[in-house]
Amino acid sequence: MTLLSIENVSKRFGQNEVIHNLSLQVKQGEFVSILGPSGSGKSTIFNLIGGLLSPDEGTIRLQNEKINGKRGSVSYMPQTPSLLPWRTILQNVILGQELQGETNRERAQEMIQKAGLGDYIHSYPHELSGGMKQRVAFIRALLSPQPIILLDEPFSALDELTRLDMQKWLLDIWETHRPTILFVTHNIEEALFLSDRIFVLANRPAHVISELTVPFSRPRNEELLLEDRFLE
Ligand code: ADP
Ligand code: MG
Repeated sequence: MTLLSIENVSKRFGQNEVIHNLSLQVKQGEFVSILGPSGSGKSTIFNLIGGLLSPDEGTIRLQNEKINGKRGSVSYMPQTPSLLPWRTILQNVILGQELQGETNRERAQEMIQKAGLGDYIHSYPHELSGGMKQRVAFIRALLSPQPIILLDEPFSALDELTRLDMQKWLLDIWETHRPTILFVTHNIEEALFLSDRIFVLANRPAHVISELTVPFSRPRNEELLLEDRFLE
């Protein structure tokens, strides 16, 4: 079943056409990546899906409903996520659920522990490093109950070891619960490791140049992923 459908969408900023006639579909339960160099329009696509921007042409549908310019229908972790400075880490994580009228405190606590932030559960954002804040925003996005999760370079501020750990965790969550995930990265290895399908964006002209179906099973063996004990 097609969950998200982008149909012939274009977006200009003044004379600069960043997205030209883009079409792509995401099915329920898929893990799809958008891969492209810096400035190719990846975050713009997410801002369009998240309703922060409206397309100049074309239609964005979620579960068949047109959502052009409509905020709040998807769970969106922006490239530079913001946490509320006056709320604790736990409160920040729960916020995404509260906005949708569902709160699962236990699950939030469990996820914060799993992200290695157990000692910071009642801390405030200014007490955390950039990479820690990024993990908080990541958990908040994962726990929001909307039908699709958009993650814009969610691991960019993490050191290599933590990134591997988070990638592996995300895959485990995906394989267990099958959320629908749309993931933005400029990292080819990351896209290949995580996704079923990859849309590759060109810089100029701005449009999808190719769609790849990842043809091999993911390299989930222990040689490629450092053993868990190194990551604790
Ligand atoms: P990416 O996420 O792939 O690095 P972006 O979507 O952030 O790329 O940006 C794509 C292009 O659109 C860039 O040239 C950028 O300067 C431009 N752009 C993005 N957002 C805006 C905006 N709000 N106003 C004007 N130009 C923008
Ligand atoms: Mg970006």
